Parts: sequence; C-alpha cells; structure tokens
Amino acid sequence: MRKVLAHAHVLDGTGGPPRVTDVAVEDGRIVAVGDGLVGDVVVDLAGRTLLPGLINTHVHVVGTSPILEDRLRAPFSAQFFAAIPLMADLLRCGFTTVRDLAGADLGVKRAVERGLLPGPRLEIAVQCLSPTGGHIDAWLPSGVDAFEYYIAHPGRPHGVVDGPDEIRLAVRELTRAGADVIKICTTNGGLYPRKDYLPAHFRDDELAAVIEEARNAGRPVASHAHGVEGVKNAVRAGVDSIEHGTYLDDEAVDMMAERGTYLVPTLSRSFGPLDNAAAGARIGAERLAHARRIADANLESFQRAVGAGVPIAMGTDMHGGELLDELHYMQVGGLTTEQVVAASTSVAAELLGIADDVGAIRPGLRADLVVVAGDLLPFKGLRERIATVYQDGVVVSGSEPEGRER
Ligand SMILES: [Zn+2]
Repeated sequence: MRKVLAHAHVLDGTGGPPRVTDVAVEDGRIVAVGDGLVGDVVVDLAGRTLLPGLINTHVHVVGTSPILEDRLRAPFSAQFFAAIPLMADLLRCGFTTVRDLAGADLGVKRAVERGLLPGPRLEIAVQCLSPTGGHIDAWLPSGVDAFEYYIAHPGRPHGVVDGPDEIRLAVRELTRAGADVIKICTTNGGLYPRKDYLPAHFRDDELAAVIEEARNAGRPVASHAHGVEGVKNAVRAGVDSIEHGTYLDDEAVDMMAERGTYLVPTLSRSFGPLDNAAAGARIGAERLAHARRIADANLESFQRAVGAGVPIAMGTDMHGGELLDELHYMQVGGLTTEQVVAASTSVAAELLGIADDVGAIRPGLRADLVVVAGDLLPFKGLRERIATVYQDGVVVSGSEPEGRER
C-alpha cells in the first residue's frame, strides 16, 4: 500500500528551508517526495510540520542511579526494566534512532529489533572505557570498590583499563559483545563538584591503541571529555566525536573543524539543574554555583565550535530533564532552526554511519517520520506538539490524522 502524507511543511533534515510538499511511503520506505503525489491512501497534513525521525546520539537507556547507595541496593536486573519507560519516552519525543553510549547491551538491542521492547532503533557502545581513577572507576577512599557505573556482566565487559594492551583487549571484547561504537573517557565526569574532572586521562599510546583496534573492527570512537587537554588528545588521536566538550578553546575547535570531528554538546544536561532549580527543585548553593559555571562554559564552548564550523550532532545524555530542550539550547547557542533539525537528523546519522538508511526525508530511506501539530517553534514545549511518530512507516506514538481512500 502506497500512502501519501500530503501538504505538510516538510523540513527534510538536510538543512534547507521548509517547503510545502508531499511524501509517499511504501513498504516502510520513503519512495517519493514532490508535489501532487498519488497513492492508495492520502493523509492531509496541511498546517502541520513533517520532520525525519529524530536521532539522539548520546543516551543511556539502561537505568542506574547517580546515588551510590541506590546503585548498591538495586537488584541487578532492575536496570534493564528501567529501559522500558525511557524508551517509550524517547519515542514519544520523536526519537526513532538513538545511540546508547554505555549501559545497553546486545540483549536490549535485540529486544528492540524483535519487537519485545518498543523504542527507538539502538546503536550501542555497551560499556565505556576509562583508566584507573577515571570516569567510571568507582573505587572509594574507604577501600570499597563500588564497581563501575555499569557493572560488568557476561554481556558487558569490564571498562576500567590501563595501558595499550588492556585497551586493545577491551575493544576486542566490546566488539565481540556487539558494540556498534567504542566509547572512551579522556577526562573525568562533571556531575560531582568534588571530583576534579578537567585533567586528561589516557596517554597517547593508549589512545592510539583504541583508534587502531576500533578502525580495524570498523567501529567509530566517541570520547567523553570535559577538559580541553582531554579533548585535544582525543581529537589528535582520531576519535569521531567529542561528547560534552564543556571546555573548548580556539585551538581545540580549529582541530575539530579541520579533522571533521563531531561535537555532541549535551547542553540540556548542563542546563538541566538550573532549569530544575528555576522550577522550584531544591539544590544546594554550592552545587547550583557549580552547575551555573558548567552551563556557561558549555554554551560558550558550543558557540566557539559553531563559529569554527565544527559539525554538531544532537545528544542529551538523558540525566533527567526535558529531552527536547536540547533543540532549544542549540538554537540559543547560535544554530538556525534548520541547522538544529539537521544536527538532530542527517548530521547525527552521518556520525553514526547510517546516513544511507535514516536521517532525512529522501526516497530510499526508512520512513521514520515525525508530524508536529502546527509550527515547529518554539522548541521549548515541542513535546506537546508532536502528534505522530512513524518508524518504518508504522505509527509508533501518537495517532495519525484520518486518511482518505482514493
Ligand atoms: Zn553519557
């Protein structure tokens, strides 16, 4: 059956301006884009906006708490069930493909593929790699080793690694376990004011080993990095994306632009605590001041990257907060509406290496589509205006306006 989605304001995801036109869908794929298309069923989308399915390049759908005691007390398998509402929420927000940068294992991905777990298509990192004392090392001064943030299990190899040989082994184990992308941490995390999160982690020979093994396995490499030296080391070594990039200087963004290294700025994650505080959440003064410094630095770095022409891919990191606010913050940081949509669709697909399958409204691609009731703007509050989400041409969230038979 050929279905025509007619008369919508189509933003095709490639950065061009919207135009009113028709999109024909058949067997889960987009088969034509143009005016006056005919089909077996026509759905009139006049006055609505049609986008490609959104792609979130940095999520964590397997649940784990930032509170250590909660993590220690949670039953092991509870983390996987926590993915159910998170995946549903991602779909509701229009995300039809996401990249899980640690947590989700091959079983979670298979559950989605087999229709057991409704949610966006998954690209997975399985685990992230950091050195002893790094981002995911949960050893405590008391002597208690509280395990990695994502506890190793048969489907999720151990992620604290030191030296080129251990790193090589870890990349091979991750590839064997089904990782689509290799995630490393070249600085500490930024969540905790006590932790010094700026110094660079991993030495050049360790980074070279990651890149070589990942390239050999045909996997891209994503690096979590807040401090600028950790960013530069990772970019110089040849990673495909910098995640967060909270502190970027001119040299760093020039290096990224020259090499085509993507930035996944996760701005909404930095602004989340401030938004929560503004909405009445009680957050300690010290923590709030820390959050303010991080948010300001993150936004300034993002603007610097945009100015230098660094490719930007949308990612939220998903630590609470409103997922679609990331679009708002990218616009605040200087992207046009069309560029925000491109960062959340076609550019994200390029980073994931799946641009020949998803990320734009173009014949041949999967019919992953989002219908917005009325205008796309403002991005704040967009969730409420998302009317229909299609995956492979099938409605997976919301409802479709009544079509008429021809
Ligand atoms: Zn993350």
